[in-house]
Amino acid sequence: MSNVLVIGAGGVSSVTVHKMAMLPNVFKNITLASRTLKKCQDIQTKVKEKYNININIAKLDADNINETVKLINKISPFLIINLALPYQDLNIMEACLITNTHYLDTANYEPKDEAKFEYSWQWDYSKKFQEKGLMALLGSGFDPGVTNVYTAHTKKHFLNSIHSLDILDCNAGDHGHPFATNFNPEINIREVTSESKHWENNNWQVGPALTNKVSFDFPEIGPKNMYLMYHEELESLVKNFPEIKKARFWMTFGDSYLKHIEVLQNIGMTSIKPINYNGMDIVPLQFLKQVLPDPGSLGNRTKGKTCIGTIITGQKNGKEETHYTYNICDHEQCYEEVGSQAISYTTGVPAMIGAMLMIQKIWYKPGVWNVEQFDPDPFMDLLNKHGLPSQTIQLDKKLSF
Ligand code: NDP
Repeated sequence: MSNVLVIGAGGVSSVTVHKMAMLPNVFKNITLASRTLKKCQDIQTKVKEKYNININIAKLDADNINETVKLINKISPFLIINLALPYQDLNIMEACLITNTHYLDTANYEPKDEAKFEYSWQWDYSKKFQEKGLMALLGSGFDPGVTNVYTAHTKKHFLNSIHSLDILDCNAGDHGHPFATNFNPEINIREVTSESKHWENNNWQVGPALTNKVSFDFPEIGPKNMYLMYHEELESLVKNFPEIKKARFWMTFGDSYLKHIEVLQNIGMTSIKPINYNGMDIVPLQFLKQVLPDPGSLGNRTKGKTCIGTIITGQKNGKEETHYTYNICDHEQCYEEVGSQAISYTTGVPAMIGAMLMIQKIWYKPGVWNVEQFDPDPFMDLLNKHGLPSQTIQLDKKLSF
């Protein structure tokens, strides 16, 4: 039952595997499979050195359903933890259905040839998962993931109904490179260059990317500029809390990051349309990824903190209240603990927690679910115990912007 297969061996996966190795009573047998075996070997070696735990490794191209089915049949895991890229989500879900295996991921499906992400493709699998008695837990990272749990927790403990939800994601870490992304560069740049989108007046309000800027004073960090963006958890939260009138997502960016993005966009380097170079088709953004620093290599040089949380205004016994729930994570402390920077850490820990709750059948229901559809309390408890403690403060008034 506690036999798991992790797919993908990047920054997030390394944290999840380290955290699982610390809990051998829950995760008795871990197999790590990815496209590049060397990356699996590196994680395997680190985990052995640190915790004296043996994990199994395998080479796998998860774009190939047959190959994935073959590997699953060989090791018969209870659960697949998909920490590869959003492009692989549907193929891995297909493989889970064929092999009767549960599924978890941290990012919703995105087609390779279109910078568009939405849950519909994965939600469409709900009936098939239900019929087979299988569970798929979607978006068990930080955002999506913990931010969804914070929303459910605020509703459960502090408010009778939610009117407005703001998710604030601040990374005040400094890695010393002129330009680098904190997670997979291809996915990161597709995300930040997409149009902004927020929920208001019963509809999605769309605007240009990275233009609506507000300064916010983050706890333990100070004032930072943050920008209105679209992020996938808004889609599921608005659906699962239909009383929400306004839902927005904000992310901080430094001026240097934005200047680089602007130049890269202007010269066509962020394009996902293939171009022919010396007789070979290449995608400019995929080429750019190859020349940028690997996010997994930023750990030992990143200093500073992240602060990610939700500010939620709603009604409590007929009165308006606003609650801010957040986590502060220190890049250097993450590196000391598991050899990774805080963005990988804040995603990898919730993936481990989601997997633990499924294995222990605390969160366990056939179908395809987002994390806010379960009781938030056990997840919040485990966040406190496993390195991502949260704080909630009541603000005097709702946000003025
Ligand atoms: P990385 O690029 O560091 O790692 C991705 C890994 O997946 C690599 O090992 C890569 O292999 C592997 N992979 C890619 N394609 C395949 C394939 N076809 N078959 C098998 N393995 C494959 O990314 P991150 O660790 O930074 O991110 C992992 C996931 O987490 C992404 O989906 C990202 O969107 C998500 N994420 C979610 C967050 C949240 O808060 N919810 C925050 C940050 C990230 P190779 O090395 O060969 O390329």
